Amino acid sequence: MRYLSSFLILSKKGTKMPFKVYYSGNPIVTEKAPRFGGVVFSIDSLGSPLVATACEASGASIWWPNKDHLSDEVDSMLISVSVPNGLKNVSNGRLRKVVDLKNGYTRFDWFVSNPINNYNVAVNIGKYTHFYDVYKGKDGKLTLDYWMLPYNVKKAKLQFERNVKPMLIAYEYWFGPYPFYKDGYKLVETQYPAMEHQSAISYGGYMKNGPPNELIGDTSGIKWDFIILHESAHEWFGNSISAKDLADLWIHEAFASYAESLFIEYKYGKRKGQEYLNRQRSGISNDSAIVPHYGVNQMGSGDMYAKGATLLNMIRTIINDDQKWRDILNGINTNFYHQTVTYDQIVNYFSKESGRDLTPIFDQYLKFKELPILEFVNKDGKLSCRWISNVIGFNMPVMVKVDGGKYQLIFPTNKLTTVNVPGASIDNIKVDTLNYYIGIAVN
Ligand SMILES: [Zn+2]
Repeated sequence: MRYLSSFLILSKKGTKMPFKVYYSGNPIVTEKAPRFGGVVFSIDSLGSPLVATACEASGASIWWPNKDHLSDEVDSMLISVSVPNGLKNVSNGRLRKVVDLKNGYTRFDWFVSNPINNYNVAVNIGKYTHFYDVYKGKDGKLTLDYWMLPYNVKKAKLQFERNVKPMLIAYEYWFGPYPFYKDGYKLVETQYPAMEHQSAISYGGYMKNGPPNELIGDTSGIKWDFIILHESAHEWFGNSISAKDLADLWIHEAFASYAESLFIEYKYGKRKGQEYLNRQRSGISNDSAIVPHYGVNQMGSGDMYAKGATLLNMIRTIINDDQKWRDILNGINTNFYHQTVTYDQIVNYFSKESGRDLTPIFDQYLKFKELPILEFVNKDGKLSCRWISNVIGFNMPVMVKVDGGKYQLIFPTNKLTTVNVPGASIDNIKVDTLNYYIGIAVN
């Protein structure tokens, strides 16, 4: 893309002034949507054009000029897109105006009233049919707008009716109000499966890949729409609370993946949510650190999803107080509402609110690929244990029980110490492996 711009700014620090940037060019075409981006050009099943953007990771500057860094967000945005008559453009925020340009084109003006990160800005062009609903939520009336291709409308109506409001009820319970009431909630059909475009979530693959309400890759029998759950969770974690650096993409993905289990818990009970997370472990590769280098637009291991979610569930298990856990999740959304954040801000928040320094635990799981190993040793007829870890001072409390007993927390460190559970021996000690994702060694 070629930028055609030159301007001179003479103003005092802190003052605001307008400037114009003119640019033109041919957009980069991508086939790897949604993450590695550009513009996707397709034809829908009725022969009409279907165009969408996607640029997470690659950065939005591949298709429009901007300060392409996650640490800064505009506070609002007007997005105007002109398309050939008969087509519609759907972008983020609310549709302000539709203008017939009298030259065969129609312009759609969308306005986003809240801060938005660059990769969330979206253009969706197609022969869409619009239908809508209203959700009465924690912050009042939330508009639900759906833009689907005509031949999918019947299916979509049923699917959204079954999934969207139940998702919003569960997430508002766990995380507090949906963060973008002003801009509304939207699902927009795309040719690629999904992307969390703020207040205009891209929704595609599910309509194509399977019958409604069938969970992809899960045999538990629990029915829900993965795309609606995962991508909508990003409105809280990713879009409202956004990482300042791509290296902290776990703040988006670990929480969104964890949110799926909280939805299941809300609907089917805590155990089902835990089992769901436990099943996700088969997808963890422990190939490299989830948090790579800062400042170089580097993205960490794909383990940020399942391993990140597992980590959050372990933190909850350690805190061992479900009401407090919910307060923490609600609180994090109030504290960092519409902000960009760092690793330390998030970890310190959990430490402060839980009353325990959780830094060594977050560090071990996010900054190293290796799992910590809990080593049990039978020493002079007494059972002892210690953590073997990359992080020095790793001290994760862990739930254990003796056969037939109740789980209780023990507090191992890197030093070998006696296991303080009456009657515990190397033969009868059980670790809560449903919730703890660790290595276990017996010596
Ligand atoms: Zn995601």
